[in-house]
Amino acid sequence: MDAIRIFDTTLRDGEQSPGFSMNTEEKIRMAQQLASLGVDVIEAGFPIASQGDLEAVKTVAREVRGARIAALARAKREDVDAAIEALQPAESPRLHVFLATSDLHLKAKLNISRQQALEAIGSMIRLGRQHVGEVEFSAEDASRSDLKFLCQVCKVAIDAGATVLNLPDTVGYAVPEEYAAMFTEVRDYLGDPQGVTFSAHCHNDLGMAVANSLAAVRAGARQIECTINGIGERAGNASLEEVVVALAVRQSSFGLKTNVRLAELFASSRMLSEITGVHVPPNKAVVGANAFAHEAGIHQDGIIKNPLTYEIISPQAVGVPARSLVLGKHSGRNALRDLVAIAHEVMRRKSAAIAATAPSATPFPA
Ligand SMILES: [Zn+2]
Repeated sequence: MDAIRIFDTTLRDGEQSPGFSMNTEEKIRMAQQLASLGVDVIEAGFPIASQGDLEAVKTVAREVRGARIAALARAKREDVDAAIEALQPAESPRLHVFLATSDLHLKAKLNISRQQALEAIGSMIRLGRQHVGEVEFSAEDASRSDLKFLCQVCKVAIDAGATVLNLPDTVGYAVPEEYAAMFTEVRDYLGDPQGVTFSAHCHNDLGMAVANSLAAVRAGARQIECTINGIGERAGNASLEEVVVALAVRQSSFGLKTNVRLAELFASSRMLSEITGVHVPPNKAVVGANAFAHEAGIHQDGIIKNPLTYEIISPQAVGVPARSLVLGKHSGRNALRDLVAIAHEVMRRKSAAIAATAPSATPFPA
């Protein structure tokens, strides 16, 4: 079965959004957990942003094993140099070079021509490849770029030595059919090159980051860039837990697997909340407090008879300690009876355990 590579950018795209900054020690803790979770790539930061960022990426690269470590760089010499330096101690490094390719970004933000963009992309990827074995190229704002120019960009990137091509929906503007069509078009133009992995990177401005990522997978993408709890710029990135659980629960539909250990999802989500002090909303898919809680009587009755009636994922599968049946005004008699029975059983076991450990002889002289 084909595998989808999970590229986690919690420590870069997530960390750069308001309220989510982490110090080096926190980044290391989170990166170790991401490695335990089984993500394929950890994007540890943007080394040119500051000396602190460079040091943090370098420390992650030195201390974290089991995942490839990526560092981000604009298609600029000083950025590429900083990223190369930061990645130096990594066992499996990946340089991640990006440049915007939409006319809007080229004119309004960068003030360069399409030709200048192509030259910067080619030369910076070639420079990177002299020092780092694997280079990914991202065409920032790909979903709003002229498709013919985007195809040209991708050809230049591959010819320069990039082996991962990321086509981001940087501003969360795409809808699934369009986003998938862009991948199909670019892959067709390039003749579906061997040894090149296509990657999706989606933002959630219209609430479609996960849907768009999965649509890209249907169109041949084999890497998804995402974050724990879906944190990231503005409305966030595609949420890692939603992406991997969707691929697992609907495996018969996608026919693909990931290397993620689902049972580590809840612990990863909790660790990020604890480090950043930002909690997930209760109705958040997979990791929210209500994701496995049931209050309505009809639902509780169904869950007691067979959990599959109202749960498509078992809480244990994603590391949630237990489902909860909440007694509230919507609960029914069956749930109440069941909870009372569970409470009795717990009390009985506790009493038995206390009796078993009690001293056998009477403490008082006869
Ligand atoms: Zn992004």
